[in-house]
Amino acid sequence: MSRLDLTGTPVAPGVGVGVVRVVVEPGMGPKAERHLARKDVESAIERLDQAMAAAVKGLESIQTATAAELGIQDAAIYGAQIAVIHDPTALKEIRQSIREDLLVPESAVQALLERLTGHFEALEGGDIKNWAADLRDPWFAVLRELSDADIQLTQETDETVILVAEELAPSLVTRLPRQQVAGILCARGGRFSHGAVVARSFGIPAVTGLEGVHLKAKEGERCVVFGEDARALLGARASEVKSAQKKSTEHAQVQKVLSSQAQEKGRLGCGHPVSIFANIESPRDLEMFDRNSVAGVGLFRTEFAYMERPAFPSLQEQEDLYLQVLRGFSGKPVVFRTLDVGGDKPLRYFKMPKEANPAMGWRGLRLSLEWKDLFLVQVQALLQANAISATVDGGIARVMLPMVTTVEELREAKTLLSDTLGKAFQEIEFGIMVEVPAAAMALKDMVKEVDFVSVGTNDLAQYLFAVDRDNPWVANLYQPYHPALLRTLRYIAKTCQRAGVPSSVCGEMAGHRAGALFLAGAGFDGLSMAPPFVGEIKALLRETDFESLRILSSEAALCTTSGESFGMLRAEADRAWAEVLEKSMGGRP
Ligand code: PEP
Ligand code: MG
Repeated sequence: MSRLDLTGTPVAPGVGVGVVRVVVEPGMGPKAERHLARKDVESAIERLDQAMAAAVKGLESIQTATAAELGIQDAAIYGAQIAVIHDPTALKEIRQSIREDLLVPESAVQALLERLTGHFEALEGGDIKNWAADLRDPWFAVLRELSDADIQLTQETDETVILVAEELAPSLVTRLPRQQVAGILCARGGRFSHGAVVARSFGIPAVTGLEGVHLKAKEGERCVVFGEDARALLGARASEVKSAQKKSTEHAQVQKVLSSQAQEKGRLGCGHPVSIFANIESPRDLEMFDRNSVAGVGLFRTEFAYMERPAFPSLQEQEDLYLQVLRGFSGKPVVFRTLDVGGDKPLRYFKMPKEANPAMGWRGLRLSLEWKDLFLVQVQALLQANAISATVDGGIARVMLPMVTTVEELREAKTLLSDTLGKAFQEIEFGIMVEVPAAAMALKDMVKEVDFVSVGTNDLAQYLFAVDRDNPWVANLYQPYHPALLRTLRYIAKTCQRAGVPSSVCGEMAGHRAGALFLAGAGFDGLSMAPPFVGEIKALLRETDFESLRILSSEAALCTTSGESFGMLRAEADRAWAEVLEKSMGGRP
């Protein structure tokens, strides 16, 4: 049997093993338009009404079961789905297609689905397209009722299954009893789609963005899903299945133990504190993890709020959004990074010049300093949200600039904000991201101007090695563990320490086991990471002590190659992780 090793976008963590079940929604296949005789119009409308009522009933029972199992919040998605079916505009459109175009109800619903798909395909920007799934999914339920072809997967086997579909929709996740679904693989569906929310709440490992996976996967073949690594092995070998099964058991057991320790503060085994923060991109993220498990938000990527909209958000809209996030973190800091668009994050409603080399071009702070109004409105919204937050026992906002290159730029931004926004700005903590090598080298001057520093290792590596972080042709040169980067990072940590300015890292490296150990040893005060890594990194750090990490970090930076430094860091990470497993699994690593 052929074996395929695919990588996509991580949606829900964990390791799953099972046999492939490909799910094809009615209406996702080729369009087959069918027509009615005029005399049959009324009975067709009646059939549509009955199918809609049956679909709503089905959704209500899933809603009740989900509420009982996971709580009202998770069940709310199904309420939203019912509302989609009850949407009078959509209903009017379907009825009109039946009455005027004489389409059978199946074809009329398919026509609506095609229109929705076309509408969202025409829009650019990550999650917008993915929300199409949330709007289409309830209509698939109606189609299933209509076509009498409910593809409830029958339990032909005791084995767990990996559901494979084109789109990650909530109904896909609830199609089978939860214990039977070991994983989900989809070609489309964003991290914030409702399907993703349900998969995470149900604890089902899931990966999306796997181009054509529903066409490539073979019914019944053995498959392994690695949620964190966003990886799927189709046609997995027996040895791979065995080792994944072991990992899956470990993962479940460790997660249980880690969540019971979630509220413990971030520290090393010797007591040395290392604050653990979350990286988030939307208020929707707040529901996806235990906020008590972090010391606050180390990076809120504000650009996603801009990218999801059809036009620039107003001052009021931004204030509401920032306040929503602040309300979730009573008394804790929330670092808002100002708009970091440009490069790989375009705004479809904002015309950018055509640049030969956009990663090195007009992005981040460079853009904010050119479009000062946008910059000022954003920071003003943040200050207003912060002022209200203080009165409702919310979080404490901090402002952070992305892509700072020179101290002159930093001073210009600071003067502009201070002169225009006055005391409210002067009182808020203000920091920079260090992600351009020139900023790292000039940090001694920059730290005098700021209250904190956060290192964006994703971009710092890109610019240090002159390697596009998304270009597979040069991916071998993107080396986060290369001594050249490790030495730069140690220099940054030391410079901040000498100046008495708190430093943290919010690039991906902070959430990797070997990376977290290196950074803690280099002397960074905080690590900020995607929420699924928080429990694991906190547990790992508790199995180490500062003195040995300090030596490890210095020795890793003295190596000559990535292989040597990573090997050294990974050996310590493996040792510490074995301790975590040993404790979590009751002496059974
Ligand atoms: C980084 O560059 O490391 C970072 C955290 O910012 P982003 O990934 O959003 O560019
Ligand atoms: Mg960056």
